[in-house]
Amino acid sequence: AKYVYDFTEGNRNLKDLLGGKGANLAEMTNLGLPVPHGFTITTEACRHYLAEGSVPSGLDREVAQQLTALETKMGRKLGQADDPLLVSVRSGAKFSMPGMMETVLNIGLNDESVHGLAKQSGGNDRFAWDSYRRLIQMFGKTVLDIDGDLFERALDDLKGRRQDTDLDSGELQQLVETYKGIVREQTGKDFPADPREQMRLAVMAVFDSWNAPRAILYRRQERIPADLGTAVNIMAMVFGNYGNDSGTGVAFTRDPGSGQQGIYGDYLQNAQGEDVVAGIRNTIPLQDLEHLDKPSYDQLVGIMETLENHYRDLCDIEFTIERGKLWMLQTRVGKRTPAAAFCIATQLVDQGLITMDEAVTRVTGDQLAQLMFPRFDGGAEKKKIAKGMNASPGAAVGKAVFSSERAVELAEQGEDVILVRRETNPDDLAGMIAAKGILTSRGGKTSHAAVVARGMGKTCVCGAEELEVLTAERRFVAPGGVTVSEGEVISIDGTTGEVFLGEVPVVDSAVVEYFEGVTEPEDDLVKAVDRIMSHADAARRLGVRANADTPEDAARARRFGAQGIGLCRTEHMFLGERRQLVEDLVLASTDDERQTALDALEPLQKSDFIGIFQAMDGAPVTIRLIDPPLHEFLPDIVDLSVKAATGEATDKDRKLLSAVKRLHEQNPMLGLRGVRLGLVIPGLFDMQVRAIAQAAAEVPGARPEIMIPLVAAVQELESVREEAVRILASTGVEALVGTMIEVPRAALTAGQIAEAAEFFSFGTNDLTQMAWGFSRDDVEAAFFSRYLDLGIFGVSPFETIDREGVGRLIEIAVREGRAARPDLHLGICGEHGGDPDSVHFCHEVGLDYVSCSPFRIPVARLEAGRAAL
Ligand code: ADP
Ligand code: MG
Ligand code: MG
Repeated sequence: AKYVYDFTEGNRNLKDLLGGKGANLAEMTNLGLPVPHGFTITTEACRHYLAEGSVPSGLDREVAQQLTALETKMGRKLGQADDPLLVSVRSGAKFSMPGMMETVLNIGLNDESVHGLAKQSGGNDRFAWDSYRRLIQMFGKTVLDIDGDLFERALDDLKGRRQDTDLDSGELQQLVETYKGIVREQTGKDFPADPREQMRLAVMAVFDSWNAPRAILYRRQERIPADLGTAVNIMAMVFGNYGNDSGTGVAFTRDPGSGQQGIYGDYLQNAQGEDVVAGIRNTIPLQDLEHLDKPSYDQLVGIMETLENHYRDLCDIEFTIERGKLWMLQTRVGKRTPAAAFCIATQLVDQGLITMDEAVTRVTGDQLAQLMFPRFDGGAEKKKIAKGMNASPGAAVGKAVFSSERAVELAEQGEDVILVRRETNPDDLAGMIAAKGILTSRGGKTSHAAVVARGMGKTCVCGAEELEVLTAERRFVAPGGVTVSEGEVISIDGTTGEVFLGEVPVVDSAVVEYFEGVTEPEDDLVKAVDRIMSHADAARRLGVRANADTPEDAARARRFGAQGIGLCRTEHMFLGERRQLVEDLVLASTDDERQTALDALEPLQKSDFIGIFQAMDGAPVTIRLIDPPLHEFLPDIVDLSVKAATGEATDKDRKLLSAVKRLHEQNPMLGLRGVRLGLVIPGLFDMQVRAIAQAAAEVPGARPEIMIPLVAAVQELESVREEAVRILASTGVEALVGTMIEVPRAALTAGQIAEAAEFFSFGTNDLTQMAWGFSRDDVEAAFFSRYLDLGIFGVSPFETIDREGVGRLIEIAVREGRAARPDLHLGICGEHGGDPDSVHFCHEVGLDYVSCSPFRIPVARLEAGRAAL
């Protein structure tokens, strides 16, 4: 393999091999921009080094050849005593990991060449010694692993209150001696004087920095694969620390915050490398460079325009001016805020640089989701008391409450509340719904609180471990003894994970108001979102439906663009005052008693369905017959037992207790639920189907689809279906009858099941649990973070469809289902339906629609459009 590429040999498409920095340096070189000469060692060499512990054979020879070629071009040799060539050794991975890895400048200086550098710069001794001390400092820290503070402190001691530029050459020379002493003391060896040795060691240090702890952390956060490795760029030095006619800066071709066009950047005179971002001295706005060095400024502005037109996107750049000569040191398509991403994409369309198709691919569902959450006012004063995980973005303010009941109570009185729990469980659901935000002291991004909150689009900070939550005492204690009791106001930022004392002002999301139809697209951002969403809608092949159980959710889903309901759960229709009826149903000892209970439930169910059909206004509504085990609707076994023990139990309580005991399951997830209930409790499913049919008959245009959950064998489905079809026929209502595919056996026998199903909906929550054999509620806290650490999966399979396992089951079911019934309608209704990556998967395997929570619908629409482009 070829391991080293001259800048003239690469181009921007070679990011895998040359890293982003190397590929773009090559691109700029080939555009004829002023880039110092240099070459790039490939990521492949790095991967080899990291795997084998040594560089690949042939690398040293290739590097030597390229170095010789560079020396020839430059007319001097690396570290040459009377006129040294100096180089930088720079990291640069495929995906930019700003500041995460290492770079060493001024390689090639030693006790002799420092004099050569001074002489060649016309006796600028100060500059030569400044460059040398920078080398030892950077090399010492990054290559020799010496604590950087040691150097910083020595520098501070010398400068006192002065700035670094106030140090004269004698002082800098003295600093070099001090630094060399630090190296000797810390490593037991002298600073390596041999320029080639310096370069070789620096290259390996850059390779190693791929696995620095902060780089690992950053990759995990950004979901960058761990095995890519970094390239290394070796580049002739140019000097911004020459004097006041020199300097270094960073710039954006437009505002990365808003997307507005203009000149954005910072410049620092007489400085090198990271000085600008490190904040050692105050930088000046880039515009002011015009007054310092007009020719360089004009040239820079011209180059920025060239780069924007060439990359057809916002670019960020690093540049240096050496004695009035401009050099380009780096460019890349720049990071930006979600708002800027939308604005820039449409601006570029208007400038004729990209098409609308491209504009849609330039933004992501995650960015759109960010724009939909309310935010804290950036300028407001805040008192931060803790930081947890940013589990579900947004900004929420309210009174702290410590139980679900209290949350509901206060919310009903019109108060905004934040539900604070150690961790949440399904019992807290009502409180979570009532609360403005959720704060937990335990659990990660896949904890119950986090998953549920994200699904509801509710702000959540979880795992704020510094907080001691004392539920019984209705208060929590933050570091420093700050105590917050029930009723005191706190603010939580789900985008950053921060927790604040008191009320921080919140601003609404204009984007949600637009989706809600409250505002016409007025401001630039909303206009941009509007254009991109319309285009994505026109492009997508996937339909988008909502998971909605109530008329209110259904109506919101419609406003957000849902084309139907993909999952209407019926279990909430058995709660509240209706529990009584469910109890009667379970306790029924004769057919008559059972029928009485069912007859009482039927009209209630019917009215629920009428509301939803009306809200959906002729769009299809997939209704899932009751799924969870019936005993979930009965009172708590402990409460009943206590009553029985203290003699307070009524006759009915005792009956209930025995029913609860009888129905108790070791493993309810795999117990009497779904279709099994329908087969075991006579009349239950019939009642539901009748309620659906009667409701549909009363709402013109209603389009019900009846969905049977948890089917594993076609025989289960057949008998339920027969009954359903009979009831439908008797009422004259037309409805599809289909099933969820959520048990692996169903996926594997999809060909048979399709004989009895007009549609499939993949229930990927259960399918994931059953394919992996672990229960979501139990594993996330127990071992998921360990699994993520070990790389067993890169992201929780409950968040993004596990393509290799669960995805394969889906593929099989799609293929065999369609083979048996070509017009089989296919959708997904698990949590995954609103996850960007999973939406792409659904597009690829040919599903007809995805269904997700109302708040995720715009995200799914956008990602479905992106998947099709
Ligand atoms: P990062 O990836 O962290 O931005 P870089 O490799 O870009 O690190 O380098 C750090 C700093 O050093 C940047 O400001 C860059 O412009 C500067 N730099 C790198 N190589 C040279 C060089 N050959 N001459 C002058 N400055 C350089
Ligand atoms: Mg850089
Ligand atoms: Mg299920």
